[in-house]
Amino acid sequence: MSARILDGKALAAELRAKVAAEAARIEPRLKRPPGLAVVLVGENPASVVYVRSKARATLEADMASFEHRLSADASEQELLALVARLNADPKVDGILVQLPLPPQIDSARVLAAVDPLKDVDGFHPVNAGKLATGLPALAPCTPVGCIMLAKRAHPSLAGLEAVVLGRSNIVGKPLVQLLLAENATVTIAHSKTRDLPAVCRRADVLFVAIGRPEFVRGDWIKPDATVIDVGTNRVPTPDGKGRLVGDVNFKEAVEVAGAITPSPGGVGPMTIACLLANTLRAACMRAGLPAPAI
Ligand code: NAP
Repeated sequence: MSARILDGKALAAELRAKVAAEAARIEPRLKRPPGLAVVLVGENPASVVYVRSKARATLEADMASFEHRLSADASEQELLALVARLNADPKVDGILVQLPLPPQIDSARVLAAVDPLKDVDGFHPVNAGKLATGLPALAPCTPVGCIMLAKRAHPSLAGLEAVVLGRSNIVGKPLVQLLLAENATVTIAHSKTRDLPAVCRRADVLFVAIGRPEFVRGDWIKPDATVIDVGTNRVPTPDGKGRLVGDVNFKEAVEVAGAITPSPGGVGPMTIACLLANTLRAACMRAGLPAPAI
């Protein structure tokens, strides 16, 4: 039987509408719209597309969008100076430095320079620490989107066996913290894990974020399990254009799982919607307003 499709586009549209309504509600209190600054260094084609869609979504949510571009040979000092200016700018509630950065720039140093109160990506060590210790934090957008999608299939994740495949700082690790906060029983697997298929088969909810096209096969999935596929990989096609696929073999998985996200169209749209939600949250925190009802 075919799995229920967890439609990230539809859920993201709902969230964006709620964010837009809350942004309009708090604008008179702020006396300005909530503002998101996005910094792009260089011309990485995928990053250019992401930055453009983030700016468009920000404007559509009635928030202010500030775009800053530096050339591919910009120095770390230049970027740090820009981040310092944005930290000090009262119109800016959220700062996102688009990754990857060129090799002459130390990403960790730049991410740590962003004011934690404006760290809408949730990558600052202060926010990572708060998330890990259960304090209110700006949490990374992609993992938050994954949890929202999983909750469409399981309104409560408490007591479920969750397996997270991938342990990056931006997806796997924060996802584990969010799942613990939801009282799931969590296993995190990675490239050194033994018998990955057996580990995956334990999952009531399987999250996959490894960057390997169609790596997870149908027979790695427990019948009726929920599968959240974070992977976005471009694979070659005969016409040379390529196409996007997830980290899960969708054709096989959809026949076994109870619910599954497509890729594209699953986690990706949720990431941008959660970025807008974090910008709103940051604006409320900075202005001493109660957290938005989203
Ligand atoms: P990453 O930093 O490269 O981390 C990949 C993780 O997967 C690592 O922990 C690695 O293990 C593990 N891994 C790699 N190959 C493996 C294998 N053969 N078996 C088991 N584990 C393996 O990747 P990421 O940034 O987390 O991104 C993962 C995927 O999600 C990518 O496709 C990316 O494009 C996508 N993504 C999508 C969004 C979105 O908005 N939709 C956002 C972020 C990322 P080790 O630690 O042992 O090396």
